Amino acid sequence: MARIGFIGLGNMGAPMARNLVKAGHAVTVFDLSPAALQSVPGATPAESAAAAATGAAFVFTMLPAGPHVREAYLGAGGIAAASPAEAVLVDCSTIDVATAREVAEGGGRAFLDAPVSGGVMGAEAGTLTFMVGGDAAAFAAVETLLLQMGRAAIHCGAAGAGQAAKACNNMMLAATMLVTCEAFVLAEKLGLSHQALFDVASKSSGQSWSLTTYCPVPGPVPGSPANRDYVPGFSANLMLKDLGLALGAAQAAGVELPVGETALAVYRRFVEAGGGAKDFSGAIETIRDSG
Ligand code: NAD
Repeated sequence: MARIGFIGLGNMGAPMARNLVKAGHAVTVFDLSPAALQSVPGATPAESAAAAATGAAFVFTMLPAGPHVREAYLGAGGIAAASPAEAVLVDCSTIDVATAREVAEGGGRAFLDAPVSGGVMGAEAGTLTFMVGGDAAAFAAVETLLLQMGRAAIHCGAAGAGQAAKACNNMMLAATMLVTCEAFVLAEKLGLSHQALFDVASKSSGQSWSLTTYCPVPGPVPGSPANRDYVPGFSANLMLKDLGLALGAAQAAGVELPVGETALAVYRRFVEAGGGAKDFSGAIETIRDSG
């Protein structure tokens, strides 16, 4: 049993913290929202992030974006200063690489960036994938806990490498999803049925996760969000956020990524047209409307 602080109990953090309680750990939780603070039965609610971190061997955070993470760790009354010197601090939020490195360097504690893929369903089922940047010994110390919230934990390299992996992966996902949407729209225009395109492409070189698991048209993959009017899943708002992080990192690194830029522009259009809360595969509507 480990003593754990968990801060940020939203759609993702609450089920992750519940899985740590289920695994038998002593979990102290904090969230700015009083309702969220009560969402982890068996955990001890704290009055602040610092109070949740005091005395903890491990501290997890699952917060909206980089500024929240910087403030929570390095701000006045922050987690870094409040936690024991030997604590391992693990940020599971999706944030920019630069902030992840800044918090790793500035906190004076072992700090890992450990964003996840798998979404709310994965958080609830304990099947997340963690991609982790930071010290290898700190990763080894926390790996068992990660595997109590997920089914895979991959050490990707030094500080920031987890966020870099997440940004690269989600940019690939965005691009394959959008070109899959375009292929279905083109098929519609050419009189080719959705099912026929699916049957061919799923057994050919056009095959991808976006097609075979998350097919953006209803029918071929009964469980995909297209079959329930694009209720997420993974929202277009979050995809737009992740693309912004990837393209921001690319700009800082001095590399031009025209396909990623185009994906970001399409998602911005879909979100501005009111699609932000829909699943990201719903961007097929924007592509249809542009024709
Ligand atoms: P959310 O908005 O549901 O939850 C965020 C929680 O953080 C809220 O309960 C909020 O009250 C709390 N919070 C904000 N600032 C705080 C502070 N200073 N101290 C304590 N609590 C604070 O967001 P979410 O969907 O749980 O996502 C969290 C992170 O996970 C984001 O970075 C997101 O990009 C990433 N993510 C989300 C998904 C998904 O499907 N929802 C998938 C993968 C990654």
